[in-house]
Amino acid sequence: MGGSNQSEQFPEVIMPACEMMKILKGQKALVTGANSGIGRAVAIALGQAGADVLVNYFAGDEQAQEVVTEIKKYGSNADCFKADVSKEHDILAMYDYMKKKFGTIDILVSNAGIQRDAPLEEMTLDQWNQVLATNLTGQFLCAREAVKEFKQRGVKKEISCAAGKIICMSSVHQMIPWAGHVNYAASKGGIHLMMMSIAQEVAAHRIRVNSIAPGAIKTHINTDAWNSPDAYQSLMKLIPYKRIGEPEDIGKCAAWLASDHADYITGATIYVDGGMTLFPGFEAGG
Ligand code: BGC
Repeated sequence: MGGSNQSEQFPEVIMPACEMMKILKGQKALVTGANSGIGRAVAIALGQAGADVLVNYFAGDEQAQEVVTEIKKYGSNADCFKADVSKEHDILAMYDYMKKKFGTIDILVSNAGIQRDAPLEEMTLDQWNQVLATNLTGQFLCAREAVKEFKQRGVKKEISCAAGKIICMSSVHQMIPWAGHVNYAASKGGIHLMMMSIAQEVAAHRIRVNSIAPGAIKTHINTDAWNSPDAYQSLMKLIPYKRIGEPEDIGKCAAWLASDHADYITGATIYVDGGMTLFPGFEAGG
């Protein structure tokens, strides 16, 4: 035994839990809209799981830099890139940067999304176009560029059994209609069939495409729904599990879905919503 400590004898036994959780080790990820809210939590969760991450953002340089710093704490590499996901030129520049910085891309989490709410008759064309451009066209452009690289590079067995993984951030509103938010619901409904169609088109190339559909998650996009006791109470009527979601709930799901643990899942939507899609109004009715 002379001098050898337990860690040398049984390295696998004493491997720190965080190392054992590095299910994305060596993978390169791009997360859009990652400077705040759900995107931030996803970027950090992927970094914790061992992926190097490019943090895309549109506004908020300091916030993006803070996410980069946080990811680096876990020993992963990270950088940020400012781009408007609805602009083709910006996306092409972002993928060029991704390739220069990290060599390739293994995981795309298309998360950037906005709301511009208004009753139908007051909704301007600009509000409609902005939401569709960011939420739907942005995901199309990012997926197209990711698939090009996945196909061109193919499977690298030592990295992942898939050639690439795309996670589209959808919403419960891909299936729950939402009065006063027709632009947003239309964009999320669009993501649903776009995701499934891309999944069908690229599956034979060992590319997995899935969605996460969050319910009410505590972020700045829906502050009005949770920041007063009255609002919170009325929100709970819509959530059978009786708590608001945290961004980390989505981060953990994304890290797992992007990993080889989920290798047989493609074309699926995972609802992470505390049961919001269970028609809670029917609990005591119907
Ligand atoms: C919206 C939130 C809303 C939640 C549940 C999300 O997609 O962005 O504003 O609270 O759906 O209705």
